[in-house]
Amino acid sequence: MKATYDVLVIGAGPAGSIAAKTAAEKGLDVLLIEKRQEIGDPVRCAEGVNKEYLKKHVEIDKQWICADLKGSCIHSPDGTRIEMAEEISGGEVGYVLERKVFDRALADLATKAGAEVRVKTRATGLIIEDNFVKGARLMHLGKEYEVRAKIVIGADGVESKVGRWAGIDTALKPVDIETCAQYLIAGADIDQEYCEFYVGNDIAPGGYVWIFPKGEGKANVGVGLLGSKTGKFKPRPVDYLNNFVEKKFPNASIVEMVFGGVPVSGSIEKTSTNGLMIIGDAARQSDPITGGGILNAMDAGKMAGEAAYTAISAGDVSLGKLEEVYEKRWRATIGHDIDMSLIVKNCFINLNDEDLDSLAHSLKDVKFERMSLLDLLQALFKANKKLLWDLRVLFKDAAKEVIKNKNNA
Ligand SMILES: Cc1cc2nc3c(=O)[nH]c(=O)nc-3n(C[C@H](O)[C@H](O)[C@H](O)COP(=O)(O)OP(=O)(O)OC[C@H]3O[C@@H](n4cnc5c(N)ncnc54)[C@H](O)[C@@H]3O)c2cc1C
Repeated sequence: MKATYDVLVIGAGPAGSIAAKTAAEKGLDVLLIEKRQEIGDPVRCAEGVNKEYLKKHVEIDKQWICADLKGSCIHSPDGTRIEMAEEISGGEVGYVLERKVFDRALADLATKAGAEVRVKTRATGLIIEDNFVKGARLMHLGKEYEVRAKIVIGADGVESKVGRWAGIDTALKPVDIETCAQYLIAGADIDQEYCEFYVGNDIAPGGYVWIFPKGEGKANVGVGLLGSKTGKFKPRPVDYLNNFVEKKFPNASIVEMVFGGVPVSGSIEKTSTNGLMIIGDAARQSDPITGGGILNAMDAGKMAGEAAYTAISAGDVSLGKLEEVYEKRWRATIGHDIDMSLIVKNCFINLNDEDLDSLAHSLKDVKFERMSLLDLLQALFKANKKLLWDLRVLFKDAAKEVIKNKNNA
């Protein structure tokens, strides 16, 4: 490890690896560090990702694909089943990844682009001088190091400390976090072409249960609950998960367990400061409805890598410059989608089982493979006028999107 680099990236998840790869491809001298001894392990993810968006970032390698899905099914509390084609199922439906292999492959791409990658290397604090982040203190195999960099990128996931060390408020209230429990089950009879979502206040209050097939009778089965719906005297996510698995897959074996949190707060106020950017889950850039964050993390990683190059080339790594080249850009793209999802999330968490069933009934005969986003929203909310009113901003937005697409065509 050298004493100075152009860019230091903290955390080798999808956000960090793509940031390091992008910056290294631009010719910057990059160090990517990861506190764990194996990149991608242990997995804290259901591993679902949209195919077309993923292809925008990387060439698909069959080695990290476990299942190639046709779409998704949503089950309402009274058992009504809605089937949706993959194209309109959102950012988490398409491929089910093997993230242990995928995350490592992304770090390999960063290495191939010229970045130096170090595992078992933990950032323990930042070097801040004259109000600028100038590097970080690292711990590697029991030894302390100081590494200086023109720009530090914090990609240290949901439990991020880097932003906080730099004075950025990344705190999450219980209502801003989805707490999750997941089993990898084996030996079960599972539809390998569709992922399934179950909603309902008995099944997962303020959240949902998911089944993501992983091939050969295996699947990730998990539950996510809003932090505000769980707590000391309430059932835990794992209690809801056990109930579900015992009923649905009584004979399955549980071969892996995952517990973790996902930020569902929506955009936070600030994601950069002098000499530093935060990205991915560290910047709370996951989707507030689904908690999905792989693609947004990769998008943010790319934008931060490019921003690092632009700022360093201009000899200006100040907050003002990073706001211009990173902050503004991500807010206009993924930030916009995150804001829209937050509006929907805030409506959905207040729905009771009757509301959920009435929405499902209004959708069950719709042919989803031919629907535009606007059609979907219209069909979805026709059944519930209050919801339609609460979500009027989305309709305006979807309508604008349709008009833009028509004009472009
Ligand atoms: C149960 C569950 C299911 C999920 N399912 C999906 C899904 O199906 N689809 C989807 O898109 N998203 C899903 N997500 C969310 C997804 O996993 C995250 O959004 C995504 O991993 C974010 O990527 P990231 O690179 O920002 O952070 P991470 O992938 O969390 O990577 C952060 C890295 O930083 C490292 N690190 C932390 N601190 C330090 C430090 N001080 N020094 C060095 N390294 C450090 C960590 O070890 C980690 O490797 C799920 C999350 C959970 C918990």
